[in-house]
Amino acid sequence: MYGVSLLQPQVEHPPDRAVCPVRGCGVSAPWEPGPVPSAGDRRCPLHRIFLSRTTFRYERETDNLLWTGRQDLALLGAARKGTGERSFGLDSSPGAVTWNVFRWLESTGGLALLLEEWLGETVLENAVAYWGYGSRNHELLPSLRRARIAFAEPESDETLFPVCIETSSHFVVVAPRLGPINIGDEASGRKRWAPERESDWLGEVLMPDWRELLDMRLAAALLRIWALGSYAAKLRGLAFVLLDISPRWANGAAGESFESGLRIAEGRRLAKANWEDVYDFAGQAPHPDADVIRAYLGDKSAGYSLDGRLRRAFSLDPARTATRVS
Ligand SMILES: [Zn+2]
Repeated sequence: MYGVSLLQPQVEHPPDRAVCPVRGCGVSAPWEPGPVPSAGDRRCPLHRIFLSRTTFRYERETDNLLWTGRQDLALLGAARKGTGERSFGLDSSPGAVTWNVFRWLESTGGLALLLEEWLGETVLENAVAYWGYGSRNHELLPSLRRARIAFAEPESDETLFPVCIETSSHFVVVAPRLGPINIGDEASGRKRWAPERESDWLGEVLMPDWRELLDMRLAAALLRIWALGSYAAKLRGLAFVLLDISPRWANGAAGESFESGLRIAEGRRLAKANWEDVYDFAGQAPHPDADVIRAYLGDKSAGYSLDGRLRRAFSLDPARTATRVS
């Protein structure tokens, strides 16, 4: 895994080529605008990554994952079964960060403790599902499926929630992101969420002008989680929480416009968290592999800016700001 400590702080690319970002490597490959390749000759054979100008993709997806034991990969494989390719090999993949962080929290028993901090209330027991699959608590999944059916949503990459957590009183859907909501929409060709079926539920949980927010792809994705997740929570008889987790630098006023679309009510709310909270948490508690997760978050890059400067994914300065919103 190549983090900030192994990547060149600044890169310059020859015309029509992309250079390998790993320090000390001089390899370059043909480059053209568009998606980061996953096959072909646009790779560095020394570091086994496909090259682009702002990020890169691991040839072996497991090179981008922290937890690759037999049970881990079996769980991840089952979670992704039938949903097509998901780019966990991409260095900037939110899915890979989500897996690396939440699988650690779950398997070390830290998840309930950190959830208490994020939700501001006691959390008893929890069951976790990744991309619609969980190895425990099989009641969680039928309600998700029923919610999808109620809204006529296809079961696909785009429509499965990355992480769902059920506690004794809450149904929590985690919305993981690595940047601000109002980011310039680089994937503008991708279909944004628009409800397949009209439903009274949309009017119940969303403000009247929510459709205006669908122009922003991330906002649309969050509204979708809000609508379907709250419906699934209702089926389970649990309070719903949308847990919006982002880097601290991206958790600002940018989210305001998305929040204006939500009809907050008793038993239905938005909570905000930062990836950096996990870094702090790992520093406080004697959990196994706490040093691994701290090294990972501390070294994680956000790729290169257009002028070739390497950026950190997370800001880990000790000055913490209060970010929890209920
Ligand atoms: Zn290289």
